Amino acid sequence: MDAHSHPAHDPDCLFCKIVAKKIPSRPVYEDEDFYAFHDIAPWAPVHFLLIPKLHIASMAHVSAQDAPLLGRMMVLVPQLALQEGCNPYPEGGFRLVTNTGAEGGQEVRHLHWHVMGGPRPWLRG
Ligand code: AMP
Ligand code: ZN
Repeated sequence: MDAHSHPAHDPDCLFCKIVAKKIPSRPVYEDEDFYAFHDIAPWAPVHFLLIPKLHIASMAHVSAQDAPLLGRMMVLVPQLALQEGCNPYPEGGFRLVTNTGAEGGQEVRHLHWHVMGGPRPWLRG
């Protein structure tokens, strides 16, 4: 555990393995703290996942100590959305989704934000 009480990584976590490049992914963006990559089963013309490299299990696990990290993560969203081909607001835009827990539809227990956009119709949503 680090100062933020999240483990830096979990050896059994799919997205930690993606961050460590033990499992391949198609990169969208990377810096010291974050990684973004294309969703393997996209719902929309643009569909990528943005994750902190730190193994935060879900939005249910965040606390005030995580606010600076999550704030920087939030600021990346509109930047990366445009970079990946989402059209400009307001005619374009994007959808930001984070499934949390079983009833929230979360399958991978490493915090991830779905960013979806592009011309409609979409496969889902
Ligand atoms: P969630 O249901 O919110 O936990 O979403 C997990 C997402 O991860 C789904 O949209 C999957 O398509 C996506 N996913 C699962 N495995 C991979 C992978 N190896 N590379 C990229 N995306 C993945
Ligand atoms: Zn993880």
